[in-house]
Amino acid sequence: MKAMRSHGPGSGLRLEVLDRPRPGPGQVLVKVHACGVCRTDLHLVDGELPACRYPVTPGHEVVGTIVGSGQRIGIPWLGWTCGACEYCTSGRENLCENARFTGCHLDGGYAEYTLADERFCLPIPERYGDAEAAPLLCAGLIGYRCYARTEDAKTLGLYGFGAAAHILAQVASAEGRTVLAFTRPGDEAGKKFARECGARWAGDSTQAPPEPLDAAIIFAPVGSLVVCALKSIKKGGRVICGGIHMSDIPSFRYSILWGERRVESVANLTRADGEAFMRVAAKIPLRTEVTRYELINANQALSDLREGKLNGAAVLVP
Ligand SMILES: [Zn+2]
Ligand SMILES: [Zn+2]
Repeated sequence: MKAMRSHGPGSGLRLEVLDRPRPGPGQVLVKVHACGVCRTDLHLVDGELPACRYPVTPGHEVVGTIVGSGQRIGIPWLGWTCGACEYCTSGRENLCENARFTGCHLDGGYAEYTLADERFCLPIPERYGDAEAAPLLCAGLIGYRCYARTEDAKTLGLYGFGAAAHILAQVASAEGRTVLAFTRPGDEAGKKFARECGARWAGDSTQAPPEPLDAAIIFAPVGSLVVCALKSIKKGGRVICGGIHMSDIPSFRYSILWGERRVESVANLTRADGEAFMRVAAKIPLRTEVTRYELINANQALSDLREGKLNGAAVLVP
C-alpha cells in the first residue's frame, strides 16, 4: 500500500510502499477513503510535537471502511488510552498519561490502509460523504469541546477562521449564539467565508469586536491572540485555546485578566466528546468546505494550509 510518511522534523513527507498492516487484538484494518489535513500535522512535520515518534504516517481525521464488515467508521486523534491512570479513571481520558494518538504515536490515515482500535472509532452520520466527513473528526470535534467550555456564552468570538471555526460557527449560530469571527489582518476572502458560515460580523484579529464577547476561542497558533481576546471579553469571560501548539504569549497587564477572566486550554478529546459531536452533526446539516488532494500530494496540502490558502479544510483522497 502507498503511505506518505514523516521521517523527522523538517524533511516533508515521503511516499513509501509498505505491506498492509496486520491487525492485532482489538484492532481493525481500515481501508482509508478520506483523511483530513489538520494543523497538528504541520506541527508534526515541523518537529513541534516532541512526543511524536518518527517515522510516522500522519493523519487523524480518517474516514474509511473496516475490511471484512464494510462498516464505515471514523478514526480520531485519540487512538488508545490506558484505562488505569488518574485521568482515565476520572472521566478525563483526553489527559491520559499513556495515551497514544493517531498519526503521532500510531500510524494514521495518510495511507491507503491503516489500523485502529475498534473501541476508539466513531460513527459517521450518513448525511456526509467521506471527504465531507473527514474534517468533523478533529476540526469539528475539538472545536466542539472548546465550545462546550464556553458554557452559555451568548456572544462568541472565534480567532482564526479555518477548518475548526467554519464548522463551529455553523453549530453555534444554529444554537442561537452570536458568532463574531476574527481573521488574519487583510484576509477579505476569509471574512466573507466566515459570514457565509453564520458569523454575524467578521474583522481583523487586531480589531476590537463591535460588542464585548462573553467568550472567545482561539484556533490560530498565535500567542498574541490570547492578549487580543482577553481585551475583548467581558468580566467573568473565558478565553479557550484550542490548538496543540502556539507561539509564546506576550506579557500583558494584569488588569486585562482581572475581573475573573480566565484563560484555558483544551487538549485532545474523550470518546464521549466524539459521540456527542457526531450526534450534533447528524442533527444539524453542517456544510464542510473541503479541498481534495490526491494522497501523493500531501506535501502540497500541508503547504497550502501553512500559507492560509484554504477556505475550510484540505482532505487527502487515496
Ligand atoms: Zn490513562
Ligand atoms: Zn487535528
